Amino acid sequence: MKVLKFGGTSVGSVQSILSLKSIVEKEAKKQPIVVVVSALGGITDKLISTSTLALQHDDNWKYEFDQMVDRHHKMIDTIITDTKKREDLFNTVDSLFEQLRSIYFGVYLIHDLSEKTQNAIVSYGERLSSNIVAALIKGAKWFDSREFIKTERINGKNALDSELTNKLVKNTFKDLPHISLIPGFISRDTDTDEITNLGRGGSDYTAAIIAAALNAEVLEIWTDVDGFMTADPRVIRTAYTINELSYIEAMELCNFGAKVIYPPTIYPVCIKNIPIRVKNTFNPENEGTIIKNKINDDKKPIKGISSINGTALITVTGLSMVGVIGVNRRIFTALANEGISVFMVSQASSENSTSIGVREEDVEEAVKVLNEEFATEIEDGAMFPMHAECGLATVAIVGENMKHAAGIAGKLFGTLGRSGISVIACAQGASETNISFVVKSESLRKSLNVLHDSFFLSEYKVLNLFVCGVGTVGGKLIEQIRNQYEELKDRSQLKLNVVGIASSKNVILNRDGIDLSNYKNVLKTSELSSPEKLKEAILGMNIFNSVFVDCTASKDIAALYQSFLENNISVIAANKIAASAEYDKYVELKKTALKRGVKFRFETNVGAGLPIIGTINDLRNSGDKILKIEAVLSGTLNFIFNEISSEVPFSETVHRAKEKGYSEPDPRIDLSGKDVVRKLVILAREAGYRVEQEDVEKHLFVPQEYFDGSIDDFWKNLPKLDADFETRRKILESEDKKWRFVAVMDGGKTSVELKAIERNHPFYNLEGSNNIVLLTTERYKEYPMLIQGYGAGASVTAAGVFANIMSIANI
Ligand code: ADP
Ligand code: ASP
Ligand code: MG
Repeated sequence: MKVLKFGGTSVGSVQSILSLKSIVEKEAKKQPIVVVVSALGGITDKLISTSTLALQHDDNWKYEFDQMVDRHHKMIDTIITDTKKREDLFNTVDSLFEQLRSIYFGVYLIHDLSEKTQNAIVSYGERLSSNIVAALIKGAKWFDSREFIKTERINGKNALDSELTNKLVKNTFKDLPHISLIPGFISRDTDTDEITNLGRGGSDYTAAIIAAALNAEVLEIWTDVDGFMTADPRVIRTAYTINELSYIEAMELCNFGAKVIYPPTIYPVCIKNIPIRVKNTFNPENEGTIIKNKINDDKKPIKGISSINGTALITVTGLSMVGVIGVNRRIFTALANEGISVFMVSQASSENSTSIGVREEDVEEAVKVLNEEFATEIEDGAMFPMHAECGLATVAIVGENMKHAAGIAGKLFGTLGRSGISVIACAQGASETNISFVVKSESLRKSLNVLHDSFFLSEYKVLNLFVCGVGTVGGKLIEQIRNQYEELKDRSQLKLNVVGIASSKNVILNRDGIDLSNYKNVLKTSELSSPEKLKEAILGMNIFNSVFVDCTASKDIAALYQSFLENNISVIAANKIAASAEYDKYVELKKTALKRGVKFRFETNVGAGLPIIGTINDLRNSGDKILKIEAVLSGTLNFIFNEISSEVPFSETVHRAKEKGYSEPDPRIDLSGKDVVRKLVILAREAGYRVEQEDVEKHLFVPQEYFDGSIDDFWKNLPKLDADFETRRKILESEDKKWRFVAVMDGGKTSVELKAIERNHPFYNLEGSNNIVLLTTERYKEYPMLIQGYGAGASVTAAGVFANIMSIANI
């Protein structure tokens, strides 16, 4: 025989209940079955909340009650087609509802809701649903589980009276009908005969008790997911079904919050060696998960991750504890006597402090109990009063193979550390099947994500990107990410998930990834933003593996990098402001990145997509020393000096550079040499020299007064320079030379200057907006290393940013 348990979601809707019918009918053809059902999905919660309304004398209880009646009626109307059966069922259901209404009315009138009354109220959920399912399934015999599932009162809580229950179940099912239908969850107290229950989620337990008593071949738990998964699928979207789990692994995961099975369920079937299969009512073909004693050799050290939010940590500490035998026994006995369950214990080897993890709702009582237990010691000053910390979450990683694998704890804490998550307490059982740790509640989602990613998703690496600035470079970058997404997923197992896009005014944030095909329209009407708000929002999202990509030229955005890095968010900047700011700030950013294990990359600050900064770093890492850098670093200026001719005057070339998107949004930044100065400073620093912008010797070719007024004045005045440039250009032409705006760093000394370059110099043939860099190093001394190519333009710059993103993904 088999026991099949269907949870609330499997009896929640017409579709699911019809699916249940076909599963049950198919199984019943093979062997006798016992079917255990929960209340209709959400009804237990509704029964409880309605009782609270009645208790508070809130008339809305009637409305809520009618809603429940309506839901059950509609279900019956749709699924029971036989008129006689439907009538009988309506009679049964309506008489149950009449009783329930009277109980609610009693609560409403006398303002009292005892545990006994509450237990009676919640029992109606399963009593109703089981009658409906029994009527639906041909030949099913309904049983009242309160007659054979018995509880007794232990430490103020209802606990299963196993011996009696076992006997009664065996008796009741001596002549096993072909299909038996049983309400889960509900029970009766052995002594008082009052209605009780097995605790929230207890239908699983009912099914396990019956399976064990009747020596079932298997216990099947039918729910709304494809089986036991590597993590809670509502939190970790990439969680997947585990094919096989051992009882121990399943027990550990359930004890730490994997809601899919109610924790006490496993024990009765485990001792009888009855396998549990978890299956999906909505996808019955799927194999689901099998939980049994011996599982096929699976090399994975970690099987799953689960967590409990709303936990508290009580620290019991004091000098008298050192080496004293019995303190722990007193702690656990005192708590157990009050029915407070402890799910984690962490004791330092110095033995003078023990931390105990309990649920937040138990913490007040637990502190009281422990303070009373150790009152004498506390009074003597040998122990301190209990200290409780709330707002915490406990996470456990579970897997029996952990005991054969070294380095799991290292990987666990390393992963958390790199993500900036600090661990408040941790414990590993001697069985080595579980490592549990406590973090602040706000870090829970991130902890689960990073751990799941690192232990289970070797298949894909995920980078979560915030792209700030959607102008030429940002816009192109988003386009490139969109075009490459599938290719990178398939070829490099990398998912580039854009979780934030910000323009100067608006922002869109979506931790599941933004639809990049339509972001422009969405952005226009989305939430207003400011740098400060953006920072708060990004830090607030607290997403794992996140990267902030700055495609703006904004000082205010550059000012956010420090906070991002401090919070373990890598920064990729096309924006040059931060890397060329005061030296100490630049160093601080780099140091922070190093300390937090994240990256601060800005390759496109110099030479757009050309690999200049990366090359300098590679040379230095291999022990080379950069002696001299000579470079043409302004694509805009090079374009201008290549464009200028007898037909195209200087002012016109500036207009063209702007139109083509080569120049900075404000071309004065290029013409004043400011842009080149910034780039040179960055190169010099990356080459290992302490240089500030003011240290650079500047020889300007546009007089200062052109930069002092407004941008409109600038454009108006610019043609005044044309005549002088034309005279000088003619001389240059006659000497067979070309203008190049050259930046030089020589042993730490820096300068920028418009130079006349002779034909045989490598800088002479530098087309369009190209850049060129000559690196003289100890190894490349006689023949300097030369890097040359497009040095400006949105596509190549975006591609350079893209390359930085890929370098963070280590691909
Ligand atoms: P039922 O009504 O069938 O008893 P539950 O809501 O009690 O269903 O349990 C199933 C739910 O448990 C799933 O919908 C899923 O969201 C949640 N869950 C949490 N952790 C896990 C996990 N590790 N594997 C599968 N489901 C999980
Ligand atoms: N209906 C009960 C609950 O919601 C029992 C169960 O579904 O297992 O807790
Ligand atoms: Mg459940």
